[in-house]
Amino acid sequence: MASSSSPRSALGSTRMESTVTALCADYQSLIAEIRKTLGAMKNIAVDLEKDKKLVEVKELEEGVLALLNASDDCAHFSSAVKSIGDAYVPGTQSIDFGNLLKNECNRLKMDSPPNPQKNSLYRQFKEAVWNVHHAGQPMPGEEMEEIVMTGTQSSLLNITCPLTGKPIIELEDPVRSMDCKHIYEKAPILQYIKMKAPNSHCPMAGCPRVLQVDRVACDPLLLIEIDEMRSRQDKLGRPSVAEDFTELDDD
Ligand SMILES: [Zn+2]
Repeated sequence: MASSSSPRSALGSTRMESTVTALCADYQSLIAEIRKTLGAMKNIAVDLEKDKKLVEVKELEEGVLALLNASDDCAHFSSAVKSIGDAYVPGTQSIDFGNLLKNECNRLKMDSPPNPQKNSLYRQFKEAVWNVHHAGQPMPGEEMEEIVMTGTQSSLLNITCPLTGKPIIELEDPVRSMDCKHIYEKAPILQYIKMKAPNSHCPMAGCPRVLQVDRVACDPLLLIEIDEMRSRQDKLGRPSVAEDFTELDDD
């Protein structure tokens, strides 16, 4: 597949692009399926908890953690495929893509180490089970401040783009900062970063992070999470009007 002649190089690039697109789409639908499964597992756990089937609930909880790990792996893999695809230049040398992928996945994992216990979906699972017998009481060992959204595990932090004021679910080309996890419309935020550089502070009120063009991207989870938010709002019968994110978190 590597060749130095230009028509074949162009072909190589196009094939690489469509392979990357197809792979990423596969991983995204896999992640979306995992997240749906987690929702179903939560409901089953609540029923089991009502019947006091504690061993089964514990097993489900371990399954949730394993699936969250798998979902993180998918997200890392998808990001790695994309960045390798973006950097690919067809040439005469053969490339060890397997090795490249492995290294890139490891790099991404170092950048945002998997931590399923801190995942908001895990917390929702624990809360749902806890509330069966202890509604209104705080969960033991759960300090809310300690729940930090990290890496690929984050949920949507802002519901409107701070630059355009558009609701996140209506953005044409949403991107998310890898550092502070805020979400923006792509073109305006890139323009903003270039204009304000090197003091391009995140435009979200109170956010201290400085943004960089290459650290603002549409990560593998972003479109999925936006879709989930959209369907939650559809269910609530509030099309495109988001008032408060915490409300949307409820079932
Ligand atoms: Zn920010």
